Amino acid sequence: MKLAKSFFTDEQQKKVKESIENAEAQTSGEIVVHLDDKCDEDVMDRAAYIFDFLNLQKTKHRNGVLFYISIEDHKFAILGDAGINAVVEEGFWDTTRDIVISNFKEGEYEKGLSRGIEEAGRRLKEHFPFTEDTRDELSNDISFGKNESK
Ligand code: CA
Repeated sequence: MKLAKSFFTDEQQKKVKESIENAEAQTSGEIVVHLDDKCDEDVMDRAAYIFDFLNLQKTKHRNGVLFYISIEDHKFAILGDAGINAVVEEGFWDTTRDIVISNFKEGEYEKGLSRGIEEAGRRLKEHFPFTEDTRDELSNDISFGKNESK
Protein backbone atom coordinates (compact mmCIF):
# COMPACT_ATOMS: atom_id res chain seq x y z
CA MET A 1 0.00 0.00 0.00
CA LYS A 2 1.33 3.37 -0.97
CA LEU A 3 1.71 5.90 1.79
CA ALA A 4 0.28 9.38 1.73
CA LYS A 5 3.29 11.17 0.36
CA SER A 6 3.62 8.94 -2.70
CA PHE A 7 -0.07 8.35 -3.20
CA PHE A 8 -0.42 11.01 -5.89
CA THR A 9 2.08 11.67 -8.64
CA ASP A 10 3.55 15.18 -8.87
CA GLU A 11 1.23 15.80 -11.79
CA GLN A 12 -1.82 14.71 -9.78
CA GLN A 13 -0.77 16.86 -6.84
CA LYS A 14 -0.54 19.79 -9.18
CA LYS A 15 -4.04 19.11 -10.46
CA VAL A 16 -5.45 18.98 -6.94
CA LYS A 17 -3.71 22.24 -6.12
CA GLU A 18 -5.14 23.83 -9.27
CA SER A 19 -8.60 22.64 -8.28
CA ILE A 20 -8.19 24.35 -4.92
CA GLU A 21 -6.96 27.55 -6.58
CA ASN A 22 -9.87 27.53 -9.02
CA ALA A 23 -12.38 26.93 -6.25
CA GLU A 24 -10.89 29.64 -4.06
CA ALA A 25 -11.01 32.11 -6.96
CA GLN A 26 -14.79 32.07 -6.51
CA THR A 27 -15.15 32.08 -2.76
CA SER A 28 -13.61 33.54 0.36
CA GLY A 29 -13.76 30.00 1.78
CA GLU A 30 -10.50 28.12 2.25
CA ILE A 31 -10.12 24.53 1.10
CA VAL A 32 -7.37 22.34 2.52
CA VAL A 33 -6.54 18.73 1.62
CA HIS A 34 -4.75 16.47 4.09
CA LEU A 35 -3.57 12.90 3.45
CA ASP A 36 -2.62 10.54 6.26
CA ASP A 37 -0.94 7.17 5.87
CA LYS A 38 -3.47 5.69 8.24
CA CYS A 39 -5.99 6.69 10.85
CA ASP A 40 -6.28 4.65 14.04
CA GLU A 41 -9.09 6.63 15.56
CA ASP A 42 -12.55 7.81 14.53
CA VAL A 43 -12.14 9.63 11.25
CA MET A 44 -14.08 12.71 12.40
CA ASP A 45 -11.95 12.98 15.55
CA ARG A 46 -8.80 12.77 13.49
CA ALA A 47 -10.13 15.29 10.95
CA ALA A 48 -10.99 17.69 13.79
CA TYR A 49 -7.47 17.35 15.16
CA ILE A 50 -5.88 18.03 11.76
CA PHE A 51 -8.32 20.89 11.21
CA ASP A 52 -6.97 22.65 14.29
CA PHE A 53 -3.40 21.61 13.60
CA LEU A 54 -3.46 23.22 10.16
CA ASN A 55 -5.09 26.37 11.57
CA LEU A 56 -8.28 26.00 9.59
CA GLN A 57 -10.14 27.56 12.50
CA LYS A 58 -8.18 30.77 12.04
CA THR A 59 -9.73 32.05 8.82
CA LYS A 60 -11.32 35.49 8.90
CA HIS A 61 -14.83 34.28 8.15
CA ARG A 62 -14.47 30.88 9.81
CA ASN A 63 -15.14 29.26 6.46
CA GLY A 64 -12.33 26.76 6.10
CA VAL A 65 -13.07 23.27 4.78
CA LEU A 66 -10.89 20.23 5.28
CA PHE A 67 -10.86 17.23 2.94
CA TYR A 68 -9.32 14.47 5.02
CA ILE A 69 -8.18 11.18 3.50
CA SER A 70 -6.49 8.25 5.20
CA ILE A 71 -4.86 6.05 2.58
CA GLU A 72 -4.35 2.68 4.22
CA ASP A 73 -7.77 2.31 5.79
CA HIS A 74 -9.78 4.17 3.16
CA LYS A 75 -11.25 6.75 5.49
CA PHE A 76 -12.56 10.03 4.18
CA ALA A 77 -14.16 13.05 5.81
CA ILE A 78 -15.13 16.60 4.96
CA LEU A 79 -15.12 19.04 7.84
CA GLY A 80 -16.25 22.67 7.63
CA ASP A 81 -15.73 25.46 10.16
CA ALA A 82 -18.30 27.16 12.38
CA GLY A 83 -18.96 30.04 9.99
CA ILE A 84 -20.20 27.57 7.39
CA ASN A 85 -22.21 25.44 9.79
CA ALA A 86 -23.98 28.58 11.00
CA VAL A 87 -25.48 29.36 7.59
CA VAL A 88 -25.99 26.08 5.77
CA GLU A 89 -28.59 23.35 6.05
CA GLU A 90 -27.80 20.00 7.52
CA GLY A 91 -26.22 17.64 5.03
CA PHE A 92 -24.61 20.54 3.19
CA TRP A 93 -21.54 18.46 2.34
CA ASP A 94 -23.43 15.31 1.34
CA THR A 95 -23.36 15.92 -2.41
CA THR A 96 -19.68 16.83 -2.27
CA ARG A 97 -18.91 13.72 -0.25
CA ASP A 98 -20.93 11.54 -2.66
CA ILE A 99 -19.01 12.86 -5.66
CA VAL A 100 -15.69 12.12 -4.00
CA ILE A 101 -16.63 8.67 -2.75
CA SER A 102 -18.21 7.50 -6.02
CA ASN A 103 -14.97 8.38 -7.83
CA PHE A 104 -12.82 6.80 -5.12
CA LYS A 105 -14.76 3.58 -5.53
CA GLU A 106 -13.70 3.56 -9.18
CA GLY A 107 -10.09 4.09 -8.13
CA GLU A 108 -10.21 7.65 -9.48
CA TYR A 109 -8.63 9.40 -6.52
CA GLU A 110 -7.27 12.57 -8.06
CA LYS A 111 -10.39 13.03 -10.16
CA GLY A 112 -12.68 12.42 -7.20
CA LEU A 113 -10.82 14.86 -5.04
CA SER A 114 -10.66 17.52 -7.74
CA ARG A 115 -14.37 17.17 -8.54
CA GLY A 116 -15.21 17.31 -4.86
CA ILE A 117 -13.13 20.45 -4.42
CA GLU A 118 -14.82 21.99 -7.43
CA GLU A 119 -18.23 21.19 -5.96
CA ALA A 120 -17.21 22.51 -2.53
CA GLY A 121 -16.12 25.77 -4.17
CA ARG A 122 -19.44 26.06 -5.94
CA ARG A 123 -21.35 25.43 -2.76
CA LEU A 124 -19.22 27.81 -0.67
CA LYS A 125 -19.62 30.54 -3.23
CA GLU A 126 -23.38 30.69 -2.54
CA HIS A 127 -22.70 31.77 1.03
CA PHE A 128 -19.19 33.16 0.87
CA PRO A 129 -18.56 34.84 -2.47
CA PHE A 130 -15.12 36.05 -3.44
CA THR A 131 -14.80 39.76 -2.69
CA GLU A 132 -12.19 42.44 -3.15
CA ASP A 133 -10.66 41.81 0.23
CA THR A 134 -10.56 38.02 -0.08
CA ARG A 135 -7.06 36.74 0.63
CA ASP A 136 -5.56 33.30 0.24
CA GLU A 137 -5.27 32.53 3.94
CA LEU A 138 -4.12 28.91 3.91
CA SER A 139 -1.74 26.97 1.67
CA ASN A 140 -3.19 25.24 -1.38
CA ASP A 141 -0.57 22.50 -1.31
CA ILE A 142 -1.64 19.06 -0.10
CA SER A 143 -0.72 18.47 3.55
CA PHE A 144 0.79 15.07 4.37
CA GLY A 145 1.36 12.73 7.23
CA LYS A 146 0.79 12.64 10.90
CA ASN A 147 2.01 16.16 11.55
CA GLU A 148 2.22 15.77 15.32
CA SER A 149 5.69 17.22 15.48
CA LYS A 150 5.79 19.72 12.65
CA1 CA B 1 -5.97 28.57 0.13
